[in-house]
Order: sequence, then C-alpha cells, then structure tokens
Amino acid sequence: MLCCAQCRVLLTAQTGLTHVRSAAHTVPYARLSEDKYHNVCNELGIRTDYPTSQELDGIEALSGLDIYTMALICGVDGCSMIFASRGAMRKHYDVMHKGVPIPTIWHIVSAQRLDNGSHKTYFRVIEPSYVFRPVLNKDWIDILDIRIDNAMKIDPLFNSDPRYLNALLTKTKWADHVKGHDLDELHSLVRLPGAEEFPLLKETIEWIFEVAMISIDGTPAIILQRLNTKELAP
Ligand SMILES: [Zn+2]
Ligand SMILES: [Zn+2]
Repeated sequence: MLCCAQCRVLLTAQTGLTHVRSAAHTVPYARLSEDKYHNVCNELGIRTDYPTSQELDGIEALSGLDIYTMALICGVDGCSMIFASRGAMRKHYDVMHKGVPIPTIWHIVSAQRLDNGSHKTYFRVIEPSYVFRPVLNKDWIDILDIRIDNAMKIDPLFNSDPRYLNALLTKTKWADHVKGHDLDELHSLVRLPGAEEFPLLKETIEWIFEVAMISIDGTPAIILQRLNTKELAP
C-alpha cells in the first residue's frame, strides 16, 4: 500500500496519483507520467484495492497513519465498532443499540483508520512499542504549549544588517543628520527625562506618550496612513 506522508492517509495504486495531483502537495509528483507511476506500482506490488475490515482487524499499526491509543470499542455482542470519542460512541449506541444501557466504563484499544473519507472506519491495531506516551500531566501541558506556539508562530521581522536604511530613514535623512555626531551624546538627548530633571518633566512626557497611544484608536485612518506612509513630505 501507499501512504501520503503529508495527509497521513492510505492510498492504493489506483488512488495514489490522483491524490497527489488533486490535493495541495508540496512534492512535485504532478509531473510524474501515469505509465511510469503504474510501472513503479507494479514493480513494488502496490495493491489496487483497499484492504477489507477483516484483513485490518488486529494488525500491526500501519506506519504513516495516525494512531489513536485511547479509542473506545463497542462491547455489545458481535459489534466491536471502534470510535475515537465518547460522543461518537454514544451516537453509535443511539443508532445501533437503542435501549441498551450505555456503559460507564469503556474498553480501550489502539486504533487507526485509512482516511477520513470513504475509509474512516476505525480498526484495531497492535500498537508499536515506540508510541510516545508522556508520563506526567505537566508534560502534556508543555507539549500543548509548544504545539500552540508553533501553530501561532509569527516570524519576527528581522533585519540582519543594522546599517540597513529603510524607506523612512532614507526619506527623513536621519542617517545624514547624525553622521559625524557623538552617538552617546545623541542618545542622551532623546532619552526619557530622569526623575531628577526639571520638576514633573518625566511625568509630563510619559503623559503625552500615553495620550498619544490612547488617541491612536480615535485618530482618522487617513492621518494614521499618512504617518505610516513611505511617502512622507520632504
Ligand atoms: Zn496527501
Ligand atoms: Zn456497537
């Protein structure tokens, strides 16, 4: 069988090429000719049909597919349907076993499914020994945090060359103005006033700054755009 590493779904010789061509895949398989693809499939003995549920039940976990290590298996005689959540299991009882009391304790198994489309029925698998299981609750939280951070990751704008003149600096010619001056002295001139300087100067400057920040929301967009534009008046 074939497995799409990107979508983590199982594919057959019949569906493989269509799958990588139709979905948004980063690997440029699309240029692969159909004849070549089928020749490779033949050589590797890739199946053209999906395995049946009898073939799948209790097999070693298939590499490349997600593994659900806490799946619930229906305990009603002869049923053995598997679901990944209690909600789904309750729905199953509602439809298939109406009137049968819903158990409070479920049998837990490891399960997989071939895809999320026409082969989404879970089947029981033997879990490989290397399935990662965090030991402490704290680990879960850390992992979750890292995953959230990765999902939300925003690449900061990074300017590798501190001497780079952006459009604003080029326009305002600040670089030309400060050329030849003592930088420490210039820094001291733009530094926030200290508490020991002119009475209330520090507090006043901070107040002006705060009022300016608060006013951003009430300032007309056209003025904000003007302040933010690359085309400042010379
Ligand atoms: Zn895929
Ligand atoms: Zn059932």
